[in-house]
Amino acid sequence: MTDKTTAADRGYRRIATEEAFAPSELFDIYRKILAGPNPDPGFVSLMGFYMSSDSARAKHIIEYLQDLDAKRIAHMDEAGIDHQVIALTSPGVQIMDADLAVSFARTANDQLADAVRKHPTRLSGMIAVAPQNPAEAAKEIQRGLGLGLKGVIVNSHTHGEYLSDPKFWEIFEAAEAHDTPIYLHPNTPPRNMIQPFLECGLDGAIYGFGVETGMHALRIMTAGVFDRFPKLQMIIGHMGEALPFWSYRLDYMHRATVLSDRYPSMRPVKRKISEYLSDNFYITNSGVASEAAIKFTQNLIGVDRVMYAMDYPYQHAIEEVAILDAMDMPAQDKKRFFQTNAEEAFRLTT
Ligand code: MN
Repeated sequence: MTDKTTAADRGYRRIATEEAFAPSELFDIYRKILAGPNPDPGFVSLMGFYMSSDSARAKHIIEYLQDLDAKRIAHMDEAGIDHQVIALTSPGVQIMDADLAVSFARTANDQLADAVRKHPTRLSGMIAVAPQNPAEAAKEIQRGLGLGLKGVIVNSHTHGEYLSDPKFWEIFEAAEAHDTPIYLHPNTPPRNMIQPFLECGLDGAIYGFGVETGMHALRIMTAGVFDRFPKLQMIIGHMGEALPFWSYRLDYMHRATVLSDRYPSMRPVKRKISEYLSDNFYITNSGVASEAAIKFTQNLIGVDRVMYAMDYPYQHAIEEVAILDAMDMPAQDKKRFFQTNAEEAFRLTT
């Protein structure tokens, strides 16, 4: 499909909200980490593969991750994507040592902000931060917003640590104070979780991503983050990493577990998991062009909470745009899905 319609013809702009980039310098750093002592097995499986494979898929991804200009815009035109919200690809700076992570997050944000300035109607960008240094991450959120970036990208765990740990909560505090959302994007499972996934090839985007990131989002909810930061908004992709489908059981078993006083780590929180999902999360369909899954999630958390993403360049799937355009859905809900929810969530102005 080469889409020739305009936003005016369709009645909505298509805004893709989980699109990735990588500065070429990122791969230089990754090469050193991969060649260093005892590299993270998930990182070796993911970036070790993409950076060394001769497969057409790997070559496509590495090439187009690095472009924030004509080649990307041409692909957007070809697919009929009016606007991309772009983030530093997983695992971003979170695989680095703290000092390098802090400085490279700034480098990546400067590059992304330059691209957004060059193509303001086509590109927006999220702020990369280094959770390894929460105080610097909070500062970078403020600096990134000043550069015109929108929202914060966190590529799930950082060296096996999760944002449910209060030592990271300065990041939540900054995001809430600046009224900007945090996109919790997948990473491969950490060293102490990955073996059963790795031995059968399920550690990556096929499944391990969703299991690891869904658990991360749950840990944030059950740790009481949204009781402490009630206005904080987070975004999760891949149809909510399956949490909507789990929602009933999560509510039932969370309550049962708390009431039975089974774990010191699971204390009472103010609301149900399903209520946090509805009020503190946006969910994107990145990588999931399933009308049934999108409608199920709209029904569960609200049509104002589910939004479009392609997952470019990992899933450069032009045919999915037509599938989603053709969803049997009221026109105003489809406009929310493709356009206005993203404009509201990220405070987009172009
Ligand atoms: Mn992605």
